[in-house]
Formats: sequence, C-alpha cells, structure tokens
Amino acid sequence: MTNRRQFVSAASAAFAGISRGLAGATKYDLVVKGGRVVDPSRKLNAIRDVAIADGHIVAVEANISADAAETMDARGKLVVPGLIDIHTHATRTADGPALCLADGVTGLIDAGSQGADRIDQAIAVARSAPQQCRVLINIGRAGILPEGDTMDLARADVTAAREAIGRNRDMIAGVKARLSRDVAGPNDFEVLRRAQEVASSFNLPVMIHMGQTLSPLPKLLALLKPGDIVTHMFAPAPNSIIDEAGHILPEVTAARRRGVRFDLGNGRTGHLRWDIAEHVLKAGFLPDTFSTDWTPEARTTQVINFPNVMSKFLMLGMSIDLVVACATVNAADLFPVFRNRGTLKVGAPADVAVLELREGNFEFVDNFENKRTGSRRLFPSATVLAGKRVAASAAPAA
Ligand SMILES: [Zn+2]
Repeated sequence: MTNRRQFVSAASAAFAGISRGLAGATKYDLVVKGGRVVDPSRKLNAIRDVAIADGHIVAVEANISADAAETMDARGKLVVPGLIDIHTHATRTADGPALCLADGVTGLIDAGSQGADRIDQAIAVARSAPQQCRVLINIGRAGILPEGDTMDLARADVTAAREAIGRNRDMIAGVKARLSRDVAGPNDFEVLRRAQEVASSFNLPVMIHMGQTLSPLPKLLALLKPGDIVTHMFAPAPNSIIDEAGHILPEVTAARRRGVRFDLGNGRTGHLRWDIAEHVLKAGFLPDTFSTDWTPEARTTQVINFPNVMSKFLMLGMSIDLVVACATVNAADLFPVFRNRGTLKVGAPADVAVLELREGNFEFVDNFENKRTGSRRLFPSATVLAGKRVAASAAPAA
C-alpha cells in the first residue's frame, strides 16, 4: 500500500528528476570547482570540477559550467575521494565518527575496541555514525585490556565471538587479534588460530596487530588467508617484517603474494619507527593501506588526523598519488561495505575530501619520540558526504 505521503514524496522526487532536464533548472546540487583532483582509482591527477547530484558523482570534467545549487571553491586544493580509515578506535566515544568525518574520513572501521562482552556498545556508536562505519570484534571477549586482551587464554572465546557476530552480521566486518607479547603473551599463535576459526565460519577477514610478538612472525603469517590484514607493518623488532640486514622476510613477500594486505596502523606506542619505515619502503615493500589507529587522545599527539598521517609518507618519499591510493581505493577494496567508494568515478556515492597541501617546515614524530621535518603537510579543508557538505562548524582548526 502506498500512503499519501509516500506518493507525494515519490512524485516530487520524479519531478526533481525531470526538472534537471529542463532548460534553466539547476542541473547539479553541488560542484566542487577548480581543485586538483587526485583519484588513483582512475589514475587521474589533474585540475577538474566535480559535479554532484542526488548524492552521487555525475561528472568529473574541466570547467563544468552548468547551473548548480551550490559551488565549492577548491582552487589551490586537492580534491580526493573520501578517506577510508580501516584501523581506528572511533567507537570509544559517541562523537568519534563525527570528529573523523571532519578530517575527511567518510568510511571507517573500529578495529577491535570491544570483544563479545561489550560489542553492543561499539555497534551502537557505529550505527549512529554519520558515515559508513563497521567494527571488528576483538577475539578477546573483554576487548582491549591494560593487562593484555588474551593473556588469559580463556578470554579468546570462540563461542562468545561467534554468537556476537551471529547477532550482528550487518555491523561486524571482521575479527581482530592483537598479538604483541604484552597483549597475548605466549598465547599469540593459539589466539590467532581461534580468531581464524571464528572468522572463517562467517567468511570474514582477520586483522592481526603484529610486532613485538613472542612467536616468530612467519609462524603467525602462516595462519593468514587471502584478504586478511596485517596492521602495524612498520613495527620494529622483535618480529619486524624486515631482518637485521634490511631485507623483507620471504614469508612476508609470500603472504602478500597470496593476498594478505599490509597496513600502517600509525598509533602512538611501539608501531611506527622512521628507520624501519624507511628500510621497508627502500626495499620496495609499499603499504597497501594507511590507517591511523585513531583514538580521541591521539588527536593532539602523533596521529592528529588522517591527512597528517598521510603527510608522513610524503616526507618518506611516496608520491601524492600513492599516498592517496593507500587512503582511498586500496582501503575500499578490503571491506564490502566500502564497495564503489574510495573513488570519484561517475556513479559512485559522492564522498569527497578536500585537502590543503601546505609547504613549509612540519615536524612529525614517530612512536619512539624521534622527530623528522617534512616540507609538506596535508590539512583537512572540507568534507562532502553523500553529496552534502559537512557542516563547517565541525571542521577542525588547521
Ligand atoms: Zn588499534
């Protein structure tokens, strides 16, 4: 049954569609004008206008002159697909997702903040997020614990995790296993085996938090299947992805070859050290994805925001196109919820991040207090989500 209100709204939607075709009527809802569009999904890096209608990208061309309800001046700025951050802890606070959105993040994953016991809390925040937001369930049923998520092996509870996923198939996008010695201790291998047991019964990926494990990395990598993700890929020894001579471990290369993805996971302690990142990049082993490991506390130190994290890899010599790819199209590829996102191709949902690439002297700090100075830094400037400009009041101070 169609009630009157549904009929009226369907009729007005149809009229809006027709009116777009009439001379003099507004053709687009929003045109982002004059920015440098960097869209690695289409190997595009050029000055373009981006036209949006009905929440979707409808044209990416030079000098779009048709009438638009609103225009956004992006001259001198970068216009990139909405950023996708696959490792955050944004569901820890109710406003986490909105804060990330103001940084240009239009898709995010909370990576294991909660386990089976309190997954409903994380899911409630993810559901009310303005952008696409999903969670990874921590295999440790109590979530992240200061004394170590799975130091007590009984917390890696397969039945509890399966039951939680069964109740929330639409919101749980994978399983997180944190494996460092201060998190899982000597249980790392068994914890990962159990995470895999849970994930494979739902055909979901596992994300492992690598670095400083008791088990050798190759032993852990052997348990990973195509589509699984290794976060904190630049963690220093013990159990780094490179050996003392600076060579990538053959098991790491083999894991990538069979479809395991390698992710940054910036964070604040123990994960990122400049010399390791430099050696890994020099060896030609580029990250598949960037992620911030964002927490509310990290907004003032090291992480700051996603564009700042991306800037560190400009400093380390990656091109702007590669840096944007790691934060957009490559990340979208990992989770079905982001299908058709991470791109500005015509027909895609109109999620757009406008960034400012400033020149100057910018200090970046790794997780070990080492400081380096870069000559360029990206700052969030404006965000468009599903064709709508995110309120300026939410935009962060530069
Ligand atoms: Zn994390």
